[in-house]
Amino acid sequence: MPAGDPPLTLKDLAGFKVTQLSDVGPRTADQLLAVEISTILELLQHYPRRYLDRTRQARIDELAPGDEATVLGTVRSSYSRKLRGRRTLTQIVVGDGTGKLTLVFFNQPWRAKQLSEGMEVLVHGKFERYRGTPQMTSPVVDLLGTQTGRIIPVYPQSEKAGLTTRRLAELVDSALERSGARGGISDPVPAAVLDRFDFVDREAALHGIHHPTTMEEMLQARRRLVFDELFRVQLELVRRKLSIELRTSGVSHNVSGGLVGRFHARLPFALTGAQQRVNDEIARDLAAGCPMHRLLQGDVGSGKTLVAVTALLTAVQGGYQGALMAPTEVLAEQHCLAVNEMLGDLAVPDPTSLMGERPLRVELLTGSVGASERRKVLAELAGGRVDIVIGTHALIQTSVQYRSLGLVVIDEQHRFGVEQRAALRDKGESTSVPDVLVMTATPIPRTAAMTVYGDLDVSVLDEMPPGRSPIITSWAEGPTAESAVWDTVRAEVARSRQAYVVCPLIEESASIEVRSAQDAFLELQEGELSGVRVGLLHGRVSPAEKEATMARFRSGSIDVLVATTVIEVGVDVPNATVMVIFDADRFGIAQLHQLRGRVGRGEHQGRCFLLGDPSTKVGRARLEALVESTDGFELAEVDLELRGEGTIMGERQKGRNDLRLASLRRDREWVELARESAIEFVTRDPELTDHPELREEVEFMLGDDEAEFLMKG
Ligand code: ADP
Ligand code: MG
Repeated sequence: MPAGDPPLTLKDLAGFKVTQLSDVGPRTADQLLAVEISTILELLQHYPRRYLDRTRQARIDELAPGDEATVLGTVRSSYSRKLRGRRTLTQIVVGDGTGKLTLVFFNQPWRAKQLSEGMEVLVHGKFERYRGTPQMTSPVVDLLGTQTGRIIPVYPQSEKAGLTTRRLAELVDSALERSGARGGISDPVPAAVLDRFDFVDREAALHGIHHPTTMEEMLQARRRLVFDELFRVQLELVRRKLSIELRTSGVSHNVSGGLVGRFHARLPFALTGAQQRVNDEIARDLAAGCPMHRLLQGDVGSGKTLVAVTALLTAVQGGYQGALMAPTEVLAEQHCLAVNEMLGDLAVPDPTSLMGERPLRVELLTGSVGASERRKVLAELAGGRVDIVIGTHALIQTSVQYRSLGLVVIDEQHRFGVEQRAALRDKGESTSVPDVLVMTATPIPRTAAMTVYGDLDVSVLDEMPPGRSPIITSWAEGPTAESAVWDTVRAEVARSRQAYVVCPLIEESASIEVRSAQDAFLELQEGELSGVRVGLLHGRVSPAEKEATMARFRSGSIDVLVATTVIEVGVDVPNATVMVIFDADRFGIAQLHQLRGRVGRGEHQGRCFLLGDPSTKVGRARLEALVESTDGFELAEVDLELRGEGTIMGERQKGRNDLRLASLRRDREWVELARESAIEFVTRDPELTDHPELREEVEFMLGDDEAEFLMKG
């Protein structure tokens, strides 16, 4: 290679195929392809799963039965034989100088070939003794080959590729060496940022993550690469947010009109501190000339409706209309009831009327509204005589015309897509886009929100209205505990309270789910709850029947409602005090928390019973978390801890650029620092004009798919 080549960018590295490495032939190329590595960039970003410090492995002679351990050893012998019923048993003996360990595999005859004598392996599993012989059954095996050095990288999926982790390390080394010969790897991150965090340069980081000489070096490298991943995402999110703010114009709402004040004055309670703070945050956005796009997170019962209504009235007092969209018609109707009750006979100023004011008009627009009524509401919306309209997503369809739509509030819908945004643009007055407030009762941890919804502003209602006692949650394991649960249900019903019973979630089959709900219903009716008025609700009943059943439950002519998760979101029956959840371990933490939030909404103490005996550690941890905490944000942290970020990121971020190294849990502080740095940066240089290479890298690494996903804020 001629000297003086410019350093290689990530895009350059993605342009080289692994087959361009001299030691990669067609066979290796195929093996790499099996783990989705075809370019040099993919190879370099195939980071070690962990590191083996040779001086710190467990010694076989020190292990006790039950220990989870990692043992580094050499294969001494291997042996395979047929068992009855066409099963095979394979035993591999590994020694580490202090003792011998037998690895046991069933129906994996290929292991005998894979693990041949003399090979160095790293095995991880549960140590046990079988008739006195130390062994591990079905351990995780990493093939090391003969590797030197104190710290050995262990690559993920090497088994799947049929490559030893050593071979992968060699390939990475050869890729790094070749890049070094071609001018090295460039570092587009500005020196000021590198200095601020005392980062090593990118090339050193790649060396350090792949073959560190000390663990300290590896940690430094990891820090740097984690930051890069997070910084790119934040640069893109912040850039998009800012560019929308600069490009589009919205409504400057009148935040000092009297309507909001009169509304607050007539409430029978004082706003919580959190409600006041969030109202202020929203008011600031509403007053500003660029369209608001804000996410409001607040636990069930934290009083989001009040915040939504405050925002809607801010629009109304300036002469604009507001729309409130719910995910279902039933919820829209419920919102309509709640909002009307809150507003009472509030009046809006109207210079054209004799009295100088007229009643505030709130209308429902759903499929259950009759045709003639619907026509009337549509006409009045277009004419500006309706102030607030409540419905489902149909509210922003083209058939609905507004005179002056100024604000849209969306309940329980994280994703407000590009199409809906475009639809909104057409709803506003000729040049301005209505403000958008999205509300959710499914809190996600702060750093996750920053990453997943980083193109939105986020407000958090982190304080419950006073006087509500937290729901008492217990986990009933075993028949005695269960029968005590039904005692409580009957006792509550005897006191004219009501209860929900939620049937197991069966992801594989909706029809089994329905059947199990029907079975539970019959069983309870004839058994534990005989004499109690029990109703049944599941996904297969018609909307009309569903509504009828809900109405009977609401009015109190059903005592106990047996249901599938159809009741998860938003159902509001303040008289319901008990929630019983069958096979609770089948649900996720967020879902359980949502379900629990259906009770304890009135003046009476709420109780939640989780039935189930989970077979996994994670299942138990979930139920324990629910018993211990009623704080949605705390639970969200636990959830993130238990599930990893994959699921949260999965909601919005698929494609080639999942965070590979960065973890939203472990790297919390870096998420914040990356965002802070990105904001600082983009504010000074909105399109990254002064840093073309960084800009190119962000565009390249986040790609078109990614860019589009980011738009779906
Ligand atoms: P969310 O929608 O966040 O689940 P809601 O808006 O439905 O919560 O509020 C739950 C209940 O709390 C409602 O009955 C509401 O009237 C009441 N509430 C709201 N804010 C307050 C407050 N500041 N003080 C007392 N009660 C409140
Ligand atoms: Mg609500």
